Amino acid sequence: LLKVEDLHIGFGPLEPLSGVDIAVDRGRILGLVGESGSGKSMTAMSVMGLLPLMGGRIKSGRILFDGTDLTSIGEKAYRNLRGGRIALITQNPMTSLDPVVKVGRQIDQVAEIHLKLDRRAAREKTIGLMARMRIPSPEMTYDLFPHQLSGGLRQRIVIAMALAGDPDLLIADEPTTALDVTVQAQIIALLHELVKEKGLGLVLITHDMGVVAQTCDEVAVMYCGKVVEYGQVDAIFDAPRHPYTRALIGCIP
Ligand code: ATP
Ligand code: MG
Repeated sequence: LLKVEDLHIGFGPLEPLSGVDIAVDRGRILGLVGESGSGKSMTAMSVMGLLPLMGGRIKSGRILFDGTDLTSIGEKAYRNLRGGRIALITQNPMTSLDPVVKVGRQIDQVAEIHLKLDRRAAREKTIGLMARMRIPSPEMTYDLFPHQLSGGLRQRIVIAMALAGDPDLLIADEPTTALDVTVQAQIIALLHELVKEKGLGLVLITHDMGVVAQTCDEVAVMYCGKVVEYGQVDAIFDAPRHPYTRALIGCIP
């Protein structure tokens, strides 16, 4: 579904990514781990086509999505994909939510734009997605504003929004870091269910090797802008090759 090949990106003279190779298939979860500043979020931004907005550019390499190289499709084509077939979930739900629009409407709007649903059909889809995300009383919650929800509920709304465009690929950049531990586990379990049920591909960026061991199929380890280790979770936990991977695995409580 997604294959990133030898990706190098530049910000002026800096090269924050200098050799990223990852792949994720439908129905699979790729855990993307690595120390702070190693380039995980930058990889997500590259796949989402958001580098130009940040002042960066792709120097070389390919980003193949369903066979198409996204490094050459242009901003207009990207606007159709982004939030539609490729969706991003970030750590802070408030960056994805509009504080003055009812949360239900925000989910509707994704379906209206990307699936061309009319307002009634969109609302129906939204209520269904909210129920799927186990948001209590979806009909009532639909009419609330983001600030009226707990952090955990807000993150569920953001995931429902990501799903509203029927994505094939989800990228979740530390989606649970801002939440308390029990809520974290619930959200990760929901994402896992969705991937297996809908056959989505998920790139899960996380610092939690416990989550990787329990929920991911493949893992990619980043170090200083490069993917230094990639493969099936079991194989890598059994025999890590890179010293940084060994250190990470050694840190699991
Ligand atoms: P964390 O775990 O802290 O989220 P990360 O692995 O996501 O870290 P990135 O945010 O991808 O790390 O950062 C990779 C590198 O890119 C870092 O060296 C960082 O300083 C640099 N960087 C981040 N944002 C920008 C930017 N807007 N312009 C230039 N360089 C940036
Ligand atoms: Mg990051």
